[in-house]
Amino acid sequence: MLKMLRDITQAVAAAQDLHSALDMLVSRTKIAMKTQCCSIYLLEGEQLVLSATDGLLRSAVGRVKMSLSEGLVGLVAEREEPINLADAQQHARFKQFEEAEEASFRAFLAAPIIYQKRILGVLVVQQADTRLFSEGEEAFLMTLAAQLAMAIRNLRKKAEAPDLLHFKGISAANGIAIAHALVIGGQIELEQPDVKVTDIKAEQTRLNHAIEACKDTLCSLSQRFDQEEEHEVVSIFSALQLLLDNASLGGEYIKEVTEGWSAVSAVSRVSLRYIEEFTQMKDLYLKERAGDIRDLGLRVLRLLIEPERMGFEPDVPVILVTKEADATILAEFPRHKLVGIVTEQGGVNSHAAILARALGVPAIIGVEGVLTAGIDKKLLIINANRGQLLVSPTPTLIAEYRNLISAEKALQQRYARELTLPAETIDGKRIQLYLNAGLLSSLESEIAEGSDGVGLYRTEIPFMLQQRFPSESEQVKVYRQVLEIAGGKPVVMRTLDVGGDKPLSYFPINEENPFLGWRGIRLSLDHPELFLVQLRAMIQAGADSDQLHILLPMVSNLDEIDQAITYLEQAYFELKSDLGKDIIRPKIGIMIEVPALLYQLAEVARRVDFVSVGSNDLTQYMLAVDRNNPRVSTLYDCYHPGILRALKRARFDCWQYHLPVSVCGELAGEPIGVILLVAMGYDQLSMNQGSLARINYLLRRVSHSDLSELLEMALTLTSGLQVRELVRDYFESRELGAILN
Ligand code: PEP
Ligand code: MG
Repeated sequence: MLKMLRDITQAVAAAQDLHSALDMLVSRTKIAMKTQCCSIYLLEGEQLVLSATDGLLRSAVGRVKMSLSEGLVGLVAEREEPINLADAQQHARFKQFEEAEEASFRAFLAAPIIYQKRILGVLVVQQADTRLFSEGEEAFLMTLAAQLAMAIRNLRKKAEAPDLLHFKGISAANGIAIAHALVIGGQIELEQPDVKVTDIKAEQTRLNHAIEACKDTLCSLSQRFDQEEEHEVVSIFSALQLLLDNASLGGEYIKEVTEGWSAVSAVSRVSLRYIEEFTQMKDLYLKERAGDIRDLGLRVLRLLIEPERMGFEPDVPVILVTKEADATILAEFPRHKLVGIVTEQGGVNSHAAILARALGVPAIIGVEGVLTAGIDKKLLIINANRGQLLVSPTPTLIAEYRNLISAEKALQQRYARELTLPAETIDGKRIQLYLNAGLLSSLESEIAEGSDGVGLYRTEIPFMLQQRFPSESEQVKVYRQVLEIAGGKPVVMRTLDVGGDKPLSYFPINEENPFLGWRGIRLSLDHPELFLVQLRAMIQAGADSDQLHILLPMVSNLDEIDQAITYLEQAYFELKSDLGKDIIRPKIGIMIEVPALLYQLAEVARRVDFVSVGSNDLTQYMLAVDRNNPRVSTLYDCYHPGILRALKRARFDCWQYHLPVSVCGELAGEPIGVILLVAMGYDQLSMNQGSLARINYLLRRVSHSDLSELLEMALTLTSGLQVRELVRDYFESRELGAILN
């Protein structure tokens, strides 16, 4: 049964057009269910239309139509549940459609086809005998209808606008861009078939060319990043270059070709063999090398399989379309040539998304099927504000979007003009605006100009850009640079928050439930050797000023805070004695991301200097919704009145216990979120660089005293949607509606 289901759904999903898909569906389902008739009705406007049949008269297709209040098929759609009848003709809702010639059928089983709560159509099987279909048959038809819903929806969309391909994804970084697609990396896998060749010499030459080209790319990338002073990235390329040497992996690839394997097979075989060996090793450093071997293998394979794709230096700016934009791809890509990012995988807070926001490039992630849709080099419009991707848009659409881009630019310029003015409401309430950051290069201008400092420096980003754990001195260098760029303003540095959806290629963690697993502080406390190195590096970098604040992620109990503070003390005193001088002890804080901590703020206040609310994770854990899962993305709602009440209560408790508090989740960079948070009394907000100017502009146009009434009203509402509408109306009434675009 399972195999039949899979065969039918795959065949339908792979069909070129809606008609052939539906014909295939009804004939295969009829065979699989051993019935005499299978038909599908699709909802067109208000009517269900017979769209394909194997058993009724073919000429009735497109002609038999009924409203939802007519016939048994209408009843299935109306009730949104299956109907199984031994003799349909006895049912009060039975309606005979002469043109279909269905008089001979008695047994009737039908299941609704529903996509995202909306009815698309009804799938029906019929038989001449009077018999009830079995439970198994009913389950089969329902499963089939559920599995086919998305494919049918997509095929219908394609049928409605054949030239305009339309994809939907999750917005990871706002903005709109128009450019051609550059599809990379989607097809290359490290696992390649074992192929023997006869012309060994030719294969050696091919491999040597690929190795040389790869060395050249790595060398020029090193030089480029050296000039841009991204020293953290330079070290990646230097390590890879060394590995390509004859005495190392390069030599191993060549040896394999000498034994008769094709260049592609050789690189694949060597890489897989060494990755296996290295991941088995006990020594952490050697274990980490598996990541380098994989990265290098993929680079050389790409040069062998699609050489024109390497180098990543398109002539004109492009929208990069890829499976998963890992940190290295994004860091390598020349920034002035990158105007948009589309990925098939990943979640809103995947590292690709975080990097895209840090780079200020519009990005949509989780776009299903985009790599196999043949869109390379086609013109795209990416509207990340709405998670939309349009392929080959019409001239009218292009003109419309160009207007939108100009309007957006004009707005941004208007916001930017006030960036250096303080974020102060009309009635004089000053709100501190900080920056969320992770890449050095994205920090400079904003710190100097508009922000009050760095409210969240995600140290996992520089860790992700490496091929191994950075050493203490490497970390000191990076943290020092961050503090220097901040020019005396406070910097909140968060200790490593990997795990969940933020993996390190060199430290694989396989878990059933990663968001509830080994994340953030849990991992740091289990690896004091890594944690102490990071703490020492941070303290050393901030030793001479009071800028540095250390923030602990994913804390779920007080014991974790106590343990972390003990390590902090150890690192501090060790360093003090190593350096032989008095050094400044950083302030320590924790993130409020785990709901239980909301009820322990009194105890938290006795242990730390400040807290920062991580509304991204707090929402995920309070609502039990995976923040990266597109299927439940509509349930992931920071404006859920329950969340808002928790945030209000947290603000009150922090005030009561004299515990300084900020918010650093995405909510703190969204206009609606900011209004509500400020109304609750939050006066320290940390956000992505793209939001800074806009939020500053907004705050300078609202009156703090108006907001408490708005908040009180919001808290009486029953859904996040209503809350957003309420605040939207408030913006409109003050001519601030454009701020939401
Ligand atoms: C958060 O959870 O709100 C947060 C800021 O941390 P991150 O998004 O990095 O998990
Ligand atoms: Mg978090």
